[in-house]
Amino acid sequence: MKHEPIRTCLGCRARDARSNLVRVVAHAGSLVVDETGRLGGRGGYFHADRACVDTFTRRGGFVRSLGCVVPKPERETFRARFPEVHA
Ligand SMILES: [Zn+2]
Repeated sequence: MKHEPIRTCLGCRARDARSNLVRVVAHAGSLVVDETGRLGGRGGYFHADRACVDTFTRRGGFVRSLGCVVPKPERETFRARFPEVHA
């Protein structure tokens, strides 16, 4: 059985296999999706799911665990990018 790293979702706080989560990093003061898994800096993980995106980007967009604000345009980008809510 393959060992998979477990990470905590920034949105729903559930723990899940890293392959089920999207990595973001705080980069130059805003949050960017780490497409390659190679960006440095403080990172977090979340489900590619509207509910989780909304949860971690609301309240002014401050992501406490990353010490980083998600500006409104970025929040809209995230929401547009992950529009589906998992059933
Ligand atoms: Zn989640």
